[in-house]
Amino acid sequence: MPTTHSRPLIVFDHPLIAHKMATIRDQSTAHRPFRATLSQIAGLMVFEVTRSFKTNPVNIQTPVTSATAHRLAGTVTIVPVLRAGLGMIDGILEVMPEARVGHLGLARDEETLEPIAYLNKLPADLDAGPVILVDPMLATGGSASAAISMLKDAGATDLRMICLVAAPEGVERLQNDHPEITIYAAALDDCLNERGYIVPGLGDAGDRMYGTV
Ligand code: URA
Repeated sequence: MPTTHSRPLIVFDHPLIAHKMATIRDQSTAHRPFRATLSQIAGLMVFEVTRSFKTNPVNIQTPVTSATAHRLAGTVTIVPVLRAGLGMIDGILEVMPEARVGHLGLARDEETLEPIAYLNKLPADLDAGPVILVDPMLATGGSASAAISMLKDAGATDLRMICLVAAPEGVERLQNDHPEITIYAAALDDCLNERGYIVPGLGDAGDRMYGTV
């Protein structure tokens, strides 16, 4: 069973993250600063996301004396959902450079409207430590739910998700499908519009990140 964290949804309430969210929400922000700022926000979020990580005591020698210090237990795996999740990786690796990166690519089947995987590249031992699913936009929750199912099927036992903007619809879907998963969001927005965009949101994260608008 995946690890149960204490709260199912953690929305960041931090002035620096709010400041940077204003930059990426602003439609006049070009793709280069958009990409850089999105990555920075992901990096800042890691501090709280890793709070539940276990550590092991290690004996070390400081220049002054011997001491007990603590290192992260297990191997951390970050899994971006392509394409937009890729934009969060550099910021996370900046603060956790030893983490591994798996990749999941999901596309919508135009007939069934269900997400189907076109890429599944994950380490064989996903249970070797905490796994962080990353996707900037939690909209309907369909692809996030499918991604979490794939990670569980692949052996992940200690899972959480980071997104930048969450819609209540997506949060509800994940809480129904995977109630044990903690969702970390930089912001919880109002709703989805008729085209499935988060409102107020920031538009299509992948297009804005890569300049394909
Ligand atoms: N995906 C996006 O990139 N933006 C949205 O608003 C919803 C889903």
